[in-house]
Amino acid sequence: MGEGPVSLSLRGISKRFGQVKAVDGIDLSVGQDEFLSLLGPSGSGKTTLLRIIAGLELPDRGTVVVGGQDVTRQPPYRRKIGMVFQNFLLFPHKTVAENIIFPLRMQRASREECVERLGWALNLLKLKGLEARYPNQLSGGQQQRVSLARGLISRPTLLLLDEPLANLDRELRAEMEVEIRRYQKELRIPFIYVTHNQEEALTMSDRIAVMRNGVFEQIAPRVEVYQKPATAFVASFVGQSNHLLGKVMQCAAGQLVIDWKGRELTVPCNETLGAGEAVRFMIKHEDVQLRAMGRASRDQAAFNRLKGKLRDIIFKGQTANFILEIDNGCELIASGSLRDTDVRAGDSVLVEWPQTAGVCFRDKP
Ligand code: ATP
Repeated sequence: MGEGPVSLSLRGISKRFGQVKAVDGIDLSVGQDEFLSLLGPSGSGKTTLLRIIAGLELPDRGTVVVGGQDVTRQPPYRRKIGMVFQNFLLFPHKTVAENIIFPLRMQRASREECVERLGWALNLLKLKGLEARYPNQLSGGQQQRVSLARGLISRPTLLLLDEPLANLDRELRAEMEVEIRRYQKELRIPFIYVTHNQEEALTMSDRIAVMRNGVFEQIAPRVEVYQKPATAFVASFVGQSNHLLGKVMQCAAGQLVIDWKGRELTVPCNETLGAGEAVRFMIKHEDVQLRAMGRASRDQAAFNRLKGKLRDIIFKGQTANFILEIDNGCELIASGSLRDTDVRAGDSVLVEWPQTAGVCFRDKP
């Protein structure tokens, strides 16, 4: 569970569309002060789950409890839940102010309340001075802020966001990621954020639920999802990893010795595996260290160490990817700063990483 008292709880939520199990028995508790992301590839069930929480879709099974009340059969407008969508959905013929207060008008709020809430929203979302403009007179970021203001205007107990930054350019997206997290921390209401973008989820969330085929593969604090992925799917979806396919040579408590195409590696593992079983060891690019020949780190025992050749350097600005050909004929990628590495393409190099780094799973066919 997340931070603070429970604000939303889902119990055994399932939804089918014909043969497709879009959501398959999801249980979830979201804390009052929590930013939770639903992260997963296209078709994993994120939007369906969000729509069930909002009341736009009825589950086949399970209950939705908001603020202690079972709202499973309540229509969306009774749930006090705000929503923000990818394509903003602003009314083109209404001004910014009219767009923002639209939900209050639907609730027949008083004029005083509309004015008071509008002032609050314009202030929070830095939209002062823009209230008389029309959506087509705004930048993408401003339009998204209007859409956020509209989602927040009627004091929702929970805000749902469905890929709200997908249509913005990279720089603006990075700026909005930080802002949206700040709004959530200021307002102290839970935000549930749907995305297939791991960077967004890692930047903003307290916890991340990684979805696949309608179920949660892992739900955990963001750092844990990144550093201790529970499954091979999560490990390949979050972060940039090398996948090393090998065979178990020895299995001891929490550790395996594996044969990776003729090279022996010691790797961490939580499963009990037998000799000869096929495994997939995943090590993040940034965990693979590159050293010029003859400059290996001193602690011989605690590292996996391999010889290879640096084939290419892919420069990415702050970091670079080093494409390596290991002497067993396999490729590995290391990433790091060019400044810290005095190697060139064509050099013979040593490659190493701590024996505690990476994750290893039984390789399922
Ligand atoms: P995306 O990131 O592409 O939006 P998603 O993770 O949000 O994907 P959903 O939109 O929830 O996934 O879809 C989950 C599954 O349910 C998909 O296989 C999708 O084709 C199916 N699905 C969703 N809505 C409907 C519908 N109204 N009718 C039939 N099938 C649907």
